[in-house]
Amino acid sequence: MLSEKTIEELRGIVGGEHVHIGPAELVAYSYDATFQQHRPDVAVSPACTEEVVEVMKLAYREVIPVVARGASTGLAGGTIPVSGGILLNLARMNKVIEIDKDNAMAVVQAGVVTAQLQKEVEKVGLFYPPDPASLNQCTIGGNVACNAGGPRCLKYGVTRHYVLGLTVVLADGRVLRCGGKLMKNSTGYQLPQLFIGSEGTLGVVTEVILRLLPLPRVRSTATAFFSKLEDASRSVAAIIASGILPATLELMDNVCINASADYLSLDLPRDAQAMLILEQDGNDEAAVRKEVERMAEVVKAQGAFLVKVAATSKERDDLWKARRGLGPALGRLSPNRFAEDITVAPGRIPEMVHRLLEIGKEFGFQILVFGHAGDGNLHPSILFDNTKPGVMEQVEKAAEAIFDAALELGGTLSGEHGIGTLKREFMEDALGPVALSVMKDIKKALDPKGILNPQKVFPQRASRKGFIMALPTLGNDLPG
Ligand SMILES: Cc1cc2nc3c(=O)[nH]c(=O)nc-3n(C[C@H](O)[C@H](O)[C@H](O)COP(=O)(O)OP(=O)(O)OC[C@H]3O[C@@H](n4cnc5c(N)ncnc54)[C@H](O)[C@@H]3O)c2cc1C
Repeated sequence: MLSEKTIEELRGIVGGEHVHIGPAELVAYSYDATFQQHRPDVAVSPACTEEVVEVMKLAYREVIPVVARGASTGLAGGTIPVSGGILLNLARMNKVIEIDKDNAMAVVQAGVVTAQLQKEVEKVGLFYPPDPASLNQCTIGGNVACNAGGPRCLKYGVTRHYVLGLTVVLADGRVLRCGGKLMKNSTGYQLPQLFIGSEGTLGVVTEVILRLLPLPRVRSTATAFFSKLEDASRSVAAIIASGILPATLELMDNVCINASADYLSLDLPRDAQAMLILEQDGNDEAAVRKEVERMAEVVKAQGAFLVKVAATSKERDDLWKARRGLGPALGRLSPNRFAEDITVAPGRIPEMVHRLLEIGKEFGFQILVFGHAGDGNLHPSILFDNTKPGVMEQVEKAAEAIFDAALELGGTLSGEHGIGTLKREFMEDALGPVALSVMKDIKKALDPKGILNPQKVFPQRASRKGFIMALPTLGNDLPG
């Protein structure tokens, strides 16, 4: 509980209408895209870096937890204010400050929605490649904090490859400006990289300088359908081994194909066990078409029974609708879904897919598989109904088996969603004790009072047991 004096002070910083303490408002700020929920004591929406500075100085002085929030589309529990305190909503900081065409760079506030930035830079012939499927909602600040990826990241890289500079408000309210409008910079430690992927635990990102590319003029998209999931997963490595670097190589299994077809009334082969979306882009139409034809040959050799090249932009948009609409489409299949984000080397996808099918059988769940297969990043999803007695224990065991399998295959826990509360108990297994203790030292140096996004990223329990069940879940925290 915060004192009335603290709430008044916050009102003085951001204006009374941007300080929310009503029960309904606090519930609205208690969720992300997982099943978790916990209310903050107050939600505050600053308009600029200076206001964030004043909020942080107050929080530091009074030792109040602060959780930065973009659009709360996170899939790891990162914005759940599990320790209460101040929820710092950055949605009002949504200005594209500058598009510098000559240098192919953009300067944006952290709350800019990713798709908004993409549209604005495309108007002047530039291109911001990172494209999380949530791009119509998520923010650049959230993308930086999670090092977000997306379908195009196989060819173009993830958020960290585009961040040239950051403005970060530190735990004690100091403003750190690091990097700059510079393509090369070897002056000291690469501080922007330290904050990328730090999930709001090291500082609040308020402004970002991004690198842009020329917008490719041509894009060609095809879909390949398989009667065996294993054939599709083998095709991923075969395409990359053939010397082609596709813009996109997305995998969807049979349940995902049918869920999308139902949700969006699309005409897709219902009995296909897997579908790959193959896309290439560039500036030379003939060369792009040739690479898509070459990919079609490779997947046919691996067992694809049908390959369709989108003939019109409407057909291409429909394919992308199917992929980007997967979240809500799958949401209709069961009351709950545990969606994971493991990553292995692309060549190990067939083994990983095999392990997922085995884990599904062992624990009695259907585990859906989709993801950015080209870069080895899969989103296996367990569908369940958490009102059924004992089901959460089984989900936990199946999820644990998925993480263990990914680590055994030389992979990692998260390719793009981050750790948050959901995977923190597995961090030592994934990183080893030395890397984890270096991370703890960094955290302590930058946030000695531990006020920035407490209980995230770092393990909180002696054992993994209860790693999901101990989390505050939806419905436990609703006001009476
Ligand atoms: C349907 C769906 C599809 C998705 N597809 C993808 C995908 O393809 N690729 C992908 O990478 N992710 C995907 N995600 C996950 C999510 O959209 C990303 O993690 C995204 O980067 C989160 O952005 P956000 O603005 O919503 O951040 P939030 O959820 O608000 O925050 C996420 C984390 O970042 C921290 N944070 C947010 N803003 C700041 C800031 N300004 N300064 C410091 N810390 C901050 C928060 O404290 C939290 O820890 C998907 C989610 C959904 C629901």
